[in-house]
Amino acid sequence: MKRASGATVISGATVISGATVISGATVISGGQLIDGSGAAPIADAALVIENGKIAYAGPARQAPPLPAEARRIDARGGTIMPGLVEAHFHPTYFNVAALEDLDVKYPVEYVTLLAAANAKLALECGYTSARSGGSLFNIDVWLKRAIENDVVPGPRLAASGREICGVGGLMDWNPDFRKIGMEGLVLLINGPDAARAAVRKLVKDGVEWVKTYPTGDAAAPDTNDHHTLCMTFEEMHACVATAHNHGLKVTGHCRANQGVKNALRAGYDALEHGTFMDDEALDMLLSRDVPVTPALQFEWASIEYGPQFGMSQRVIDGHKETLEAGAESARRILAAGGRLGMGGDYGFAWTPHGTYAKELSFFVDYVGFSPLDTLRCATRSGAEILGRQHELGTLEAGKLADVLVVEGDVLGDIRILEDRSRFIAVLQGGVVKAGQLA
Ligand SMILES: [Zn+2]
Repeated sequence: MKRASGATVISGATVISGATVISGATVISGGQLIDGSGAAPIADAALVIENGKIAYAGPARQAPPLPAEARRIDARGGTIMPGLVEAHFHPTYFNVAALEDLDVKYPVEYVTLLAAANAKLALECGYTSARSGGSLFNIDVWLKRAIENDVVPGPRLAASGREICGVGGLMDWNPDFRKIGMEGLVLLINGPDAARAAVRKLVKDGVEWVKTYPTGDAAAPDTNDHHTLCMTFEEMHACVATAHNHGLKVTGHCRANQGVKNALRAGYDALEHGTFMDDEALDMLLSRDVPVTPALQFEWASIEYGPQFGMSQRVIDGHKETLEAGAESARRILAAGGRLGMGGDYGFAWTPHGTYAKELSFFVDYVGFSPLDTLRCATRSGAEILGRQHELGTLEAGKLADVLVVEGDVLGDIRILEDRSRFIAVLQGGVVKAGQLA
């Protein structure tokens, strides 16, 4: 059992799996509070936690009286903020440098262990929740269960399981003569009937999100580049109708403008990337308030580090095009009052797990978002994408106490969030799970 020295865990404590303790009351004070709503920070704030939930978040001088035995966490003049949400998390990616690494490099047993290690690392990096952007086999569904049962530490997960892509599309790269399918990574479909069958399989697998591939990507310039469609509208619509019937949500890898529009017309619940968007696509997006997770630092890192990994100039040129278009779409969505999630595609060799917060710095330094807007995207909007905005994403009374306590002013220097040695505490449901006090 681990506790900070001097910590008080008193009567009524609940022991979970012998590893963690929820005490009756905890107060975090001595720093500014960013609530995740986009509101200005509150100086000299206090956050009171009772039984894993937030009881008070506001100025310290107005905080309710606390029992003498309450645990006290000193923010040391730093920042108290909501736990971060990785909105496009691939727990089963592991230093991916080539397409084969995504699929058949390791057996499922080893990838499962890697996924558990990645989940632990994400929590240590301040990510208390994450939405899977697709997983090998059904690993994220079971990883989610293991995290919920306190078997392994990790973000609260929304699982996607295997992704869906049209035959011959971006994710169908093994040539037929090898007689290797893609059954670990994607469900390949031909036509609406196959799309329905794939979604029904995912329903049985227990996913919450159906991740599809409406379009190609800069990574595949020959037959599935970023302007290519990889699913028909009819296939996409069949996915949505089947998923919604069973209470699942649908998202998709959408780069080409036509793919974005197909997804919005088909009733998608979210978009990944949303790269090329003309005015009509933006209007459609805003009228339905569909959230987008751009995942842009991956594009920049591909351009910067791709040559070291043998990436061709054509692929790098494609990433340059998708970076600029994706950044412009993100700026327009934010300016028009749309919703954006932060995260995406960490787990490649040039975007390793553990560097998730580079996305936030990138949006401030390169895309031009304010730190406050970026943090709102990474907290409140992330919780909305998870469908858990009523219990997560902002520091408000009644919500679960998923909290980050950080040394320093993250609004003055958002790069502080890249350095987990500066995390005083990462709390999930009021329990210190990582950081210096863990
Ligand atoms: Zn992805």
